[in-house]
Amino acid sequence: MKTKHCVGCKTGKLARVRVMDSIKVGGHAFSAELPALRCEHCDLVSFDGPALEGFELRVAVELARAGESTGAAMRFMRKTVGLRAAEFAGLVDVTPETVSRWENDKQSLDHRAMAVLASVVLDRFERRSTMLDTLRALQHPRKLARRIEFSPSEIAGR
Ligand SMILES: [Zn+2]
Repeated sequence: MKTKHCVGCKTGKLARVRVMDSIKVGGHAFSAELPALRCEHCDLVSFDGPALEGFELRVAVELARAGESTGAAMRFMRKTVGLRAAEFAGLVDVTPETVSRWENDKQSLDHRAMAVLASVVLDRFERRSTMLDTLRALQHPRKLARRIEFSPSEIAGR
């Protein structure tokens, strides 16, 4: 938390507090107590950025694990992992218009696209990028040699 003065009134001192925050996605309300700063002068509350991002990611994980397949869940999960609609469309090989129709519930969701997005979310939660790496390799394949020999350690494990 770098802010020293209130961004609202510019004068008030900031106190560390914990505040209940909630996020609504497609008829579900998620809540958590998050660290925040409250201005002692004007009461403006600003949430701690990383804590808020952590909360959003945890919501996306819950949606992914539950197999939620609504347009709202797709949009929330996509935004949480920082993918633009056009970028996500490219990764799952559809047009941006299709993603828009999915997210606005104008066309039923493709479960494979949702599974891909869910994997990206779960990877992010575990600080990995397996699915995104795989998708990007498919988009931009590297030249694979005709003959490849592995050393014993490459086969045994990591
Ligand atoms: Zn203030």
